[in-house]
Amino acid sequence: MARATTQDRQASGSPLVQPLRELAGITPATAALFERMGVVTVDDLIRHYPYRYDDLREVTAIAGLRSLGPDQVGEQNVCGVIRQSKHVRLRGRVRSKTSAVIDDGTGLLEATWFGRPYLGAQLKAGMKIFVRGRVEATLTGARMAVVQHRVVHAEEAFAGELVPVYPQTAGLRNSVIRRLVTRELARVLADPLAADELDPLPARVNAAHKFKDARFALRAIHAPSSPEEAAEARRRLVFEEFFLLAAQAALRRAARASERSPDFAAAMTPKKLSRLAADLDAFFPFALTSAQRRCIAELTEDMLRPAPMNRLLQGDVGSGKTAVAAAAILLAARAGFQSAFMAPTEILALQHFHKLSAPLRAAGVESALLVGGLKKHTRDDLLARLRGREIDLVVGTHALLTDDVEFGALGLTVIDEQHRFGVLQRAELRSKARGYTPHTLIMTATPIPRTLAQSLYADLDLSVVDELPPGRTAVKTYVREAADTTKIFDFVRKQVALGRQAYIVCPAIDDSERALHSAVEQAESLRNGDLKGLRVALLHGKMTGKQKDEIMRLLGDGFIQVLISTTVVEVGVDVPNASVMVVLDADYYGLAQLHQLRGRVGRGAAKSYCILVASERGESDSARLGILAATNDGFAIAEEDYRLRGSGDVAGTRQHGAQEFRLANLIRDLPVFEQAKKEADALVAADAGLEKPENAGLKRVIDSRERSRGLRFTS
Ligand code: ADP
Ligand code: MG
Repeated sequence: MARATTQDRQASGSPLVQPLRELAGITPATAALFERMGVVTVDDLIRHYPYRYDDLREVTAIAGLRSLGPDQVGEQNVCGVIRQSKHVRLRGRVRSKTSAVIDDGTGLLEATWFGRPYLGAQLKAGMKIFVRGRVEATLTGARMAVVQHRVVHAEEAFAGELVPVYPQTAGLRNSVIRRLVTRELARVLADPLAADELDPLPARVNAAHKFKDARFALRAIHAPSSPEEAAEARRRLVFEEFFLLAAQAALRRAARASERSPDFAAAMTPKKLSRLAADLDAFFPFALTSAQRRCIAELTEDMLRPAPMNRLLQGDVGSGKTAVAAAAILLAARAGFQSAFMAPTEILALQHFHKLSAPLRAAGVESALLVGGLKKHTRDDLLARLRGREIDLVVGTHALLTDDVEFGALGLTVIDEQHRFGVLQRAELRSKARGYTPHTLIMTATPIPRTLAQSLYADLDLSVVDELPPGRTAVKTYVREAADTTKIFDFVRKQVALGRQAYIVCPAIDDSERALHSAVEQAESLRNGDLKGLRVALLHGKMTGKQKDEIMRLLGDGFIQVLISTTVVEVGVDVPNASVMVVLDADYYGLAQLHQLRGRVGRGAAKSYCILVASERGESDSARLGILAATNDGFAIAEEDYRLRGSGDVAGTRQHGAQEFRLANLIRDLPVFEQAKKEADALVAADAGLEKPENAGLKRVIDSRERSRGLRFTS
C-alpha cells in the first residue's frame, strides 16, 4: 500500500491528512514520539484529547491560606517555586512521604505526598510547580496534602485557566503537545476545506440531541472556559465517535450483503456434509466441547450461504478456538476451496502449522507454511503450488499479505488473535480472492463482554466458545516481590523435577531497553545460578525464524525445561505440559495481557501456577495484580482492566485499528453508544450509498478518515 503523499493531500485539499512529519517546526524525532501515541496526522493531533484539566483559575496566595475559615478549608490551588524538598521512608517499604516547601512570594507552604517514592528524585529546588490539595493552617504557615500536581515549565503562559493535560509519552511534554495542538487546531478551523471534514453529524441529529457544532466542540475540548463547557464538548465528541463507528459498521454490513461468497453450497451435498461430520470426529484426539460444536455449526451454516461469512470467534485463552478453525478449513477444502490462516507472530504460525498439518494430511488436506525469510526457491515453489491449487491451506504471518502471494481458489481466511492486526490487513488478505469475497473467521481471546463486542465489532457476527475443555484446573496465581526470586526459582526446580516445564517472561530483550529485567541477562544468570543444571533456553523476537522454530520444537517435545522469553509467548503458544509461568516486572503489564500470559499454562491436566513478580517500584500495583490472583475469569479481568485504565483503550484497539475511541469509554458511555448506533443504523438503512445531501458531511469525514488510516497501516 502506498503512503499518502503530498499529492493525495492536494487531491483532497485538506490539512487533516497531513502527516505531522511534514509540518513546520516538527523534527522527525518529535514526530516519532507522537507516532508512538498513535498520532500520525493533523487529524489525529486535533483528536488527541486531554484526559483531564488542571483548574488553575483560582490560585490562592499562600498568605491567604492561613486566614481561611474552617468552612473554606478544602481543596485549594497554589502555584509557586520549590525552595527545598525531601523524601523519607516511613515504617518499612510500604509508605513513604515526600515533602517540598513552596514559595509563591507571599508565604511558604509545606506540600506533602504519600506513597510516591519516585517523586523524591523529580522535585528539585527552583522548579515552578502547581499543586492542588487539602490545606490546613499551621503555626508557621500552611500545609497541604497534595492530590494533584504539575510542574510548570517556564515558557508556559499561565494565568487563570483550565489547563488541558494530554496523554503523554516519555520525552514529549504536555506543554509541547498543547502548543502544537493549539496551533494546528487554529489552522484547521481557519481552513474552509478542513472545516468541511469536521462534522459527521447530519443537521437533524445535531438538532435532535441539542449539540453545538463540531468547531465549538473541538475548541472547547482543548481550551474550555469552564468545566461545563468541556463536558458539553465531550458529550458531543463521544457521540460523534460512536456515531462514526456505528455508521461505518452499518455501511460495511450493507456492502457485504451484496457481495458474493465462494460457492460452498454447490459442492457440499447433504451426503458430503454428513461425511464431513464423521471426518471431524475422527480428526481430533479429543471430543469437542458442546461450545465448540455450537460454534462449528454456526460457521458451517454461514459458509453455505451466498453472502460471505464475517464472523468473530471469541473464547477465553485455552478454550480451543483452533479446533473450530480447523473444522472451517476442512469444510473449505471439502468444498474445493483453499484457506489462508494468518497468525500475528512467526512462533504462533509455526505452532499452528506443526499441529494442523499432520492430521489435515491424514484427512487429505495439503498444507504449507509461509513466513518471512524462506529460501527463494522454496518460496517460489510454494507460491506456484498455491496458485495451482495443490496446497489447500497456507499458514503464515504478515508474509501472506505480500503481493505475489496468489491463490488459485481462496475460499476462507482465518485470522488468529485479531487484535494484533489492523482492519486493513484483514481486508488485504480477503482481497486475494478474485470475483468473490472469501469467508472470514476472526479469532480473539480478548474477553470482551458480549454487548461490548457487538458494539465494537458491529459488522461481525459473533460466536463464543464459552466453555473450557474438561479436566482443566484453575491456574493458581500468586503475587510476589522481587526479593523472593530465589524461592520462586526453587519452586521452578521442583516442578521441573516432576517432569513439568516452565516459562519465565521478562519485559525486555536485553539491557539496552530500560531498567527492567531482560531475557538475555536472565537466561545468562539463571543458567549459571538458580537454575544451573536444568535445560534452559532463550526465546525473543530478534532471533531468526529458524532459531525460533528450533526452540519451539524443543519446547513442544519437552526437551527444554525452562524457557526464558519476552512476551513473544504472550498469545497462542500451546504446550500442555508447561505448568509454571513466572512473570518478572509483572506490574509493567496490563491485566488483560497478564491473563494472556497466564493462559500459557493450565492447558493440560497438570496443576499449574502463575507467579507474578512485582518490580521494586510497584507499590500500589500489588493490589491491581491481586485481581489476577483472585479470579481466572477473563471477562471479569477485562472489565476491571477497562475500569482501571478508565478510557478508550478497549482490547488494545487503539493501536490496532479501531482508532475511533479516543474519548469514549465503552463501559461508561454505553447508553450513548446505543443512541448513536440507532441514529447511524437508521441513516444507513435509508441511504446506504450516503448520496443524500444531508449526509454529505458524514461521507466527507469517512473519506478523510480512510485516507488518514492509509497512513497508519503502511510498513
Ligand atoms: P485457544 O482458544 O487459546 O486458541 P487452543 O485452540 O490453543 O486454545 O487450545 C488449547 C488446548 O486445548 C490445545 O492443546 C488443544 O489441543 C486443547 N483442546 C482443544 N479443544 C479440546 C477439547 N474439546 N478437549 C480437550 N482438549 C482440547
Ligand atoms: Mg489460539
